Amino acid sequence: MSEEVKSESLSLCAVSMAATREPELICIFGTGDLGRSLGQRLLQTGYRVVYGSRRPHSCGPLPSGTQAMSHEAAAKSASLVFICVHREHYDFLEALAPQLQGKVLVDVSNNLKKNLYPEANAEYLQRLIPEAHVVKAFNTLSAWALQNGPSDASRQVYLCGNGAEAKQTVEETATKLGFTIVDRGSLSAARELEDFPLQLFPQWRLPMYLPIGLTAAFFFYLVMRDVVYAYVTQGKDVSFRIMISIANKVFPIVSLILLSLCYLPGVIAAFLQLYRGTKYKRFPDWLDHWMLCRKQLGLLALALASLHVLYTLIIPIRYYVRYRISAITISQIKENKTSVFDTTMAWRTDSYYSMGVLGFGLYLLLGISSLPSVSNALSWREFSFIQSKLGYLTLFFCTFHTYLYGWDKFLHLSAYKWYTPPGYMLSLVVPSVVLVLRLLLFLPCLDRSLTRIRQGWERMDPEDDSKKTLLT
Ligand code: NAP
Repeated sequence: MSEEVKSESLSLCAVSMAATREPELICIFGTGDLGRSLGQRLLQTGYRVVYGSRRPHSCGPLPSGTQAMSHEAAAKSASLVFICVHREHYDFLEALAPQLQGKVLVDVSNNLKKNLYPEANAEYLQRLIPEAHVVKAFNTLSAWALQNGPSDASRQVYLCGNGAEAKQTVEETATKLGFTIVDRGSLSAARELEDFPLQLFPQWRLPMYLPIGLTAAFFFYLVMRDVVYAYVTQGKDVSFRIMISIANKVFPIVSLILLSLCYLPGVIAAFLQLYRGTKYKRFPDWLDHWMLCRKQLGLLALALASLHVLYTLIIPIRYYVRYRISAITISQIKENKTSVFDTTMAWRTDSYYSMGVLGFGLYLLLGISSLPSVSNALSWREFSFIQSKLGYLTLFFCTFHTYLYGWDKFLHLSAYKWYTPPGYMLSLVVPSVVLVLRLLLFLPCLDRSLTRIRQGWERMDPEDDSKKTLLT
């Protein structure tokens, strides 16, 4: 037989073997929510699935094509076993140690509280069956996410374990299921992984405290100035203003401050780099943390700006507004008076609304482009153009909108009730500082230096000998 014919027949043989090879069999202990979802997903990916159950004949409907049997029989049939059972029931596994010897056991369990047990569930499992290779994985996914397949919020499978081969096996399975792997090292990391699902919005904690604190502080400030002041000085009850008027002042104020707080750390970082003359020194931790929560701050700012828009839209249907308009109209009719058209006022109000609409439109664009599905479709340059350039433009429009709202109010003494400045004035402090600092960075001397620093240039310190020798 010629070499060519030989290799052709060999490859044909390999193809036919692959075609007849049975799909890999995976065992799942536990026919509960997670066991069923995982089984369903494994089947869809082409695996065969067998369940180990206490009641193999009465464990309810299972994904079609799977089989339920006793734990012993199921354990013997597969080399990869998912333990989809709560930790408090693990003791039955000790008796199965001979059948589970040498097998890869995937611990998917979570606890209701942190530090409920002295050791991590996966370490406990490893202690019960020392001859097995325990891998902690899949515990950060819900049964729902497993059934529906990976989505942006649950694309990653965190994994840890002591055996490299065992981890490799689980990694391959997770990858086939469509997940990406984050290897957290040895089994001693299991407790950390078990604590992940217990965290509630960990990245949102600081960004949430800030708007809550600011909202409460401004709400109190404005109630004192607008409601209590009127009651104390004129005996007028205008407490109804709390529901819409004050809410519609507090939300834009906090929104604008939050938006400017998204851009302030970037400006501080730029000045810090200019001052240090290098980009290779770490920023202080507080600045790092601040920069990391800019996305959350921005989204909360957008949420508050949206509330401001909604509150503004309902102004014409408010009883108080309708009452005031008709009262003014009737009094003008009675007095046979007409008000003169004020072009300056028309310009002012139109510009004020226009800035608000443009600012909110760009606000929405910033929010949409921060969605992972959108940002993934953008190049880094496009993303930073939207978030940085258009972001500053948004801040400018919103700040200008607020300046137009204030117009010349700051000239009138009556605006300073109890010697306090109006809320809008306070809201302008941080954004104005950010915009001025940003404008300063546009100065050619600063801009040029910053660009060079960001390209890796370092200012030489005449007293720093170590750097001198390094650079000569
Ligand atoms: P589940 O619906 O309560 O199912 C647990 C299964 O364990 C039962 O269906 C039962 O299966 C088996 N079982 C119950 N008592 C047992 C005992 N005394 N001895 C032996 N087996 C027993 O729970 P689950 O929601 O599927 O969760 C299973 C594990 O996955 C838990 O450790 C949980 O922390 C983890 N997890 C769940 C989710 C989720 O979204 N549900 C997400 C991540 C991690 P048989 O009757 O067939 O024996």
